Amino acid sequence: MSLFYKSTRDDSVKVTASQAILKGLAPDGGLFVPESIPSFDKSLEELSKMSYKEVAYEVMKLMLDDFTEEELKACIDKAYDEKFDTDVIAPLVKADGAYYLELFHGATIAFKDMALSILPHLLITSAKKNDVHNEIVILTATSGDTGKAALAGFADVKGTRIIVFYPKNGVSPIQEKQMVTQKGDNTYVIGIKGNFDDAQTGVKKIFGDKELEKEMAEAGFQFSSANSINIGRLVPQIVYYVYAYTRLLADGEIKAGDKINAVVPTGNFGNILAAFYAKNMGLPINKLICASNENKVLYDFFTTGEYDRNREFVLTTSPSMDILISSNLERLIYRIAGNSAKKNSELMESLKNTGKYEITPEMKAQLSDFYGNYATEAEDAATIKKLYEDTGYVIDTHTAVAATVYEKYKKETGDDTVTVIASTASPYKFTRSVMDAIDSKYDSMTDFELVDELSKISNVAVPQAIEDIRTAPVLHDTVCEVNEMSSSVKKILGI
Ligand SMILES: *Cc1c(COP(=O)(O)O)cnc(C)c1O
Repeated sequence: MSLFYKSTRDDSVKVTASQAILKGLAPDGGLFVPESIPSFDKSLEELSKMSYKEVAYEVMKLMLDDFTEEELKACIDKAYDEKFDTDVIAPLVKADGAYYLELFHGATIAFKDMALSILPHLLITSAKKNDVHNEIVILTATSGDTGKAALAGFADVKGTRIIVFYPKNGVSPIQEKQMVTQKGDNTYVIGIKGNFDDAQTGVKKIFGDKELEKEMAEAGFQFSSANSINIGRLVPQIVYYVYAYTRLLADGEIKAGDKINAVVPTGNFGNILAAFYAKNMGLPINKLICASNENKVLYDFFTTGEYDRNREFVLTTSPSMDILISSNLERLIYRIAGNSAKKNSELMESLKNTGKYEITPEMKAQLSDFYGNYATEAEDAATIKKLYEDTGYVIDTHTAVAATVYEKYKKETGDDTVTVIASTASPYKFTRSVMDAIDSKYDSMTDFELVDELSKISNVAVPQAIEDIRTAPVLHDTVCEVNEMSSSVKKILGI
């Protein structure tokens, strides 16, 4: 074992991968980052002969090196099984010259399943390895998709409870229905009267509450996180970029060593950071194209070097990207600050106090791997309509943000490198917005009429996840104020 994780805010913190997974967030509020990023020990050709699970093992063993082979393979086997509706787990679909990497074939039809189907197993294994006997309480803020994927992953997992906070008026009707119908004695879902940033800030505050931590320990509980700040989320996300590359290689679309572009519809900066880590592990990636919706803090950051969250929070049709504080960006900031916890802390402190920070020109010069742009609501809808009319392929509103930004990138640069677009949700998860984009005649239909109509026009069967909620009863109806989040948690735990 040789890879340790450090906090982005305190140089003295050093833990193993399993400890980082258990804790979620460092005690100082920083995020855990690997001390160095390991390189692949198999060639791209070797990897191209492997299944998804085999690639997952080859990637994850390097990043989570205190797990034994047996432990890690058991986690992988339990995660990537028939919960996914295709053996290949993450299929690549070519449409209009780009490769869509469909990351939505898991239980809740969004890409969050790729990591959240394995996180519970990584966490339980980490607890065993570290002799933890407390019940683990997963506390999660969601902009819609993480919540359901985490609930599905942790439901009825022994030794865990899961509490999910979501913005009551900030998720799609199907997202909300998916969450509030969640079964499982250990699942709790609470709507908050605020937006996603309020939910995320509230959860971080609860994590940082030392008094509460003591009360929890006395009652036999400890917190962990299923948000993408947990490296147990990030590491499994590296896998599918490697897998996508090896599929292109196996299919003869590229030669080993050829570069590809990756376009990622971005919110909390987790998915694109995983692609960045993949690049650093040795995957030949040319540009990491960061696509934002109208909440375009990241576009502004990449163009100006200033991160500024002081702006109006826009509710868009891609709600899982409606975020003004992209948590995982901190991991990149730490790195371009020369792995300096001190410099990073100063910037994060400034973000907390003034809502903004500015990086130095030296730091900005290290961002050349990235290209940032954004899509307006109208552009997003037009992209869905055009792709459908030209090819018959229907994409969701988040993926359409990526497709729009990719078009802008091509126009601007003329770059014709083979490109993979991360397709992060099934169009069935955002049926109304998708169908509205295609034709206004669908306006008057109910949500489930639209589902059937989408099936007709796309020739894609209605996913089980949608069938399941057609008639499912609502099991969770708690709503609270932002400042009641902590007391809601206490009430659930009876402390
Ligand atoms: C979460 C999510 C995103 C944003 O991913 P980040 O890792 O937060 O950048 C994009 N699309 C969909 C459908 C999502 O659920």
